[in-house]
Amino acid sequence: MTYYKVELSSNGMLPNYPRFIWIGYILLKHWKDLYIASKGSSDAFEDVLTGVLDSVIDWDKTGFIKTSDKLTLPDRQKLFFWQRINCKGPEVTLLFKCGSCGELNEVKVDLTTINEDRIKQKIKNEKIEINDVKYNLKVPVREDLLKLNKLLNEYKFNAFKKLSNYLYINEIETLNSELDRVNNRTNVLILEKMKSMKTNEIEEIKKDANTKREEIKNKIQEYQNKTDSSLKEVNDILGKFYLKQLNSISDIKSYKDLEFDDPYTNYLVSLILCIENYPEENIVNFMLNIPGNILKILEQYVSLIYHGFEKSVKTECVFCKDTIFRKLDLTPDFFLT
Ligand SMILES: [Zn+2]
Repeated sequence: MTYYKVELSSNGMLPNYPRFIWIGYILLKHWKDLYIASKGSSDAFEDVLTGVLDSVIDWDKTGFIKTSDKLTLPDRQKLFFWQRINCKGPEVTLLFKCGSCGELNEVKVDLTTINEDRIKQKIKNEKIEINDVKYNLKVPVREDLLKLNKLLNEYKFNAFKKLSNYLYINEIETLNSELDRVNNRTNVLILEKMKSMKTNEIEEIKKDANTKREEIKNKIQEYQNKTDSSLKEVNDILGKFYLKQLNSISDIKSYKDLEFDDPYTNYLVSLILCIENYPEENIVNFMLNIPGNILKILEQYVSLIYHGFEKSVKTECVFCKDTIFRKLDLTPDFFLT
């Protein structure tokens, strides 16, 4: 395989990180794999991209790393664009609806003309102090993202287990359906006795049913009290999640119903990714309890290490001449046009 030297957007400014990647062209089967993966989640696409890139990089010439999971996301995108430009040409056709007039636009974008930000100064191994503990700052690579996502999922799973101990949703549901059964059975029995005009037996059936109903209602109240008394803990757990889709607590059926996916948490996650040795246990509590003044330090660091291609391209609607910013996602556009 012939290897070509590609300079990364991080520009040789990161410690223990390559400036150039020696890479060969990916194969036709790789294009097919990437296209299929692009139809799924971004995680699925990035997984396939790792396998594809790793199979065509000369690691001895490249140095420092042995897998593209140890590259930053923008540097991985740079390599993907390089493949796209060299294998299929620089032009990509983007299809989108104009937000102003609603007409469907077809715009050709030249990937070689998209602005690329490079890191301008050497990034040193800096340390910060949070509540008297020293932490190392680092430029996050894909591997760090995978690790943090795994920890957040585990956190969600444990929170769900705790919630189901506090909430007696299942028990209350079972008792309510038992109550329904008692009511139905009583009605059937009363109807039968009414035919034979046995009024004293009907009174007895009603008395029995009332006793059973009381019993069940007391049990429901007992579970309800248990839930209410743990309400503070329940709210503490729920407060950490984004629960936009839920109408009530009883809608929580699995840990997947607990979401971190609000813009502010995503932003905090992007900052935490720059802390190398954060505590793995209770990562969410750690993240939410960092003193506010640290925010400024982390934000400065994030802007210092910013690199990669511009996230959207500016285009003009051919019908109404309105300016439209179109996000440059890794969509199937990159493969079929
Ligand atoms: Zn328009």
